[in-house]
Amino acid sequence: MAKPRRRVLQRMEDLPPIKRPGDEGHIRSLVAQLLEALGETSSRNGLLKTPERVAKALQFMTKGYHHNIDQLLNGAMFPIEYDEMVIVKDIDFFSMCEHHMLPFFGKCHVGYLPNKKVVGLSKIPRVVDVFSRRLQVQERLTTQIAETLKQKLNAHGVGVVMEAQHLCMMMRGVEKQNTIAVTSSMLGAFRTQQQTRAEFLKLISRNGVGDLA
Ligand SMILES: [Zn+2]
Repeated sequence: MAKPRRRVLQRMEDLPPIKRPGDEGHIRSLVAQLLEALGETSSRNGLLKTPERVAKALQFMTKGYHHNIDQLLNGAMFPIEYDEMVIVKDIDFFSMCEHHMLPFFGKCHVGYLPNKKVVGLSKIPRVVDVFSRRLQVQERLTTQIAETLKQKLNAHGVGVVMEAQHLCMMMRGVEKQNTIAVTSSMLGAFRTQQQTRAEFLKLISRNGVGDLA
């Protein structure tokens, strides 16, 4: 049990530092070069504004690098006696795989067992966003969301399940159109107590996700 835990913490430390947004002009000129390298004529009419659009889109899709989780959660945590499971399910998320810089997207389900405090429900999708809007692999994304909530809420346990379709699998390579990748991270009581994990998986169950129990 100790070994995977250490690996998880290491992954948290692997998080890139919060950086200032990059220079948009620099990204634009790189996109123009990329277009030329792909055999396009970057000066043709239809592509004139493409470098600018791509630069803006890429900056938007990676804006999670510049968001601070503590700032996001500060002032949104409330003391409470409630000690039943809190679940926010079917959170839409969009990310980009770090191997191909192609989108992967789907649903994220989050559950936690509060320990004297809860976080505003709307903050949970925001946390999912902060970690999704980066170059990611789905496994690490899942773990980062779970570890962060566990740590910041000091929760008795956290469970995160993510179901996603990866364009890098659908458009290239194996070209599997209907494959859904499912990843999960179970921490604290969600890991140690079969009943808690089963309850969570049952409550988020849809299209057989609950079968994981
Ligand atoms: Zn990929």
